[in-house]
Amino acid sequence: MIREWFELAENIKKMYGSEGAIALHEPTFDGKEMEYVNDCIQSGWVSSVGKYVNEFEKQLASYAGVKRAIAVVNGTAALHIALKIAGVKEQDEVLMPALTFIATANAVSYLGAVPHFVDVSTLTLGIDPDKLEKHIIQIGQFKDGHLVNRLTGRIIRAVVPMHTFGHPVDMDPLLDVCDRYGLVIIEDAAESLGSFYKGKHTGGFGLAGALSFNGNKIITTGGGGAILTNDEQLADHAKHLTTTAKIPHKWDYRHDEIAYNYRMPNINAALGCAQLERLPYFLEEKKNLVKKYQEFLKPIKGVRLLTEPESSSSNYWLQTIILDEDIYNRDDVLEILLKNGVQARPVWTPLDGLLPYSGCPKDDLSNTYLLNRQIINIPSTPLKGEHNVKT
Ligand SMILES: *Cc1c(COP(=O)(O)O)cnc(C)c1O
Repeated sequence: MIREWFELAENIKKMYGSEGAIALHEPTFDGKEMEYVNDCIQSGWVSSVGKYVNEFEKQLASYAGVKRAIAVVNGTAALHIALKIAGVKEQDEVLMPALTFIATANAVSYLGAVPHFVDVSTLTLGIDPDKLEKHIIQIGQFKDGHLVNRLTGRIIRAVVPMHTFGHPVDMDPLLDVCDRYGLVIIEDAAESLGSFYKGKHTGGFGLAGALSFNGNKIITTGGGGAILTNDEQLADHAKHLTTTAKIPHKWDYRHDEIAYNYRMPNINAALGCAQLERLPYFLEEKKNLVKKYQEFLKPIKGVRLLTEPESSSSNYWLQTIILDEDIYNRDDVLEILLKNGVQARPVWTPLDGLLPYSGCPKDDLSNTYLLNRQIINIPSTPLKGEHNVKT
């Protein structure tokens, strides 16, 4: 058993052509990154003014097939503002998977609202729409036209589906459920730039969506994020809220609400423009990586490589092994891979198990905890393929 994992580690190191340790995910800068960033430095426009922010926003919106994109300082800020413009308020409850990064819950908490955890599907790793509806039927009731949690008395305002490791949530049935119960959808698409459900880009299904361009995501701006929406008015409000709500004027400092300094600096957007040009190649290389890993895992019994759900095209941001828990102990496998120079890691601790969120309302989370014992992420940096030529 140990030998098979040792061989996997050897295969991974050979594939990346490296004797040293292989990272889980590293940024790839092989396009016009230097040129655009240099342009910012030479022109002096590195901060809150400059052409790259507008350009990055335009290109993002066009790629994601939405009317507007607003670039911000990170994905958490994007989620915060997306939830705010969607009308999430103090003492609202917001349904979300327990199997997500803590930022999803933190953004809800910044608004004084309360995360309400639901279970995920073992096929998509995202919210399971059927189980969600059963839960709503069990704990919900309508009061003054709002869905209310009978157990807490709070309004259940919204749902935040998260597209785990880039694999799209089954959106059609989720949209139906949300429609039936009057719930707003805000997508956490932080991991899913380049992922499509039935031909439509993730992040464009709800009232608003959030992307992240942190250093470990499929493209990076150093740090950064974006709000996506098809609603022009909400987009204008999001832009206003992320730029201190300043009213344009030749010299006067006038601000008409309490807002945020969340604007993405020009130098980060310059990096983003170059990275976005490379995205089609990253996606291609990620799919090649799937084929390699399927080959490597063939001799290992009791494992499967997570593949894109039906009707979806995934960006395969992080490659994911699902272990048969009757055969393997997750931490033992992690130890072997780490000892042999391959960075691997488990999925997040389910959020209801974290100190700040242990008291939140929740459904049965059996799939979440099963997956927590089964999932291992393995190195996922795009390989340098034949398409990795300078553009
Ligand atoms: C990365 C990530 C975020 C937050 O993005 P930052 O840019 O790091 O703030 C939010 N949700 C999920 C699921 C993420 O993976």
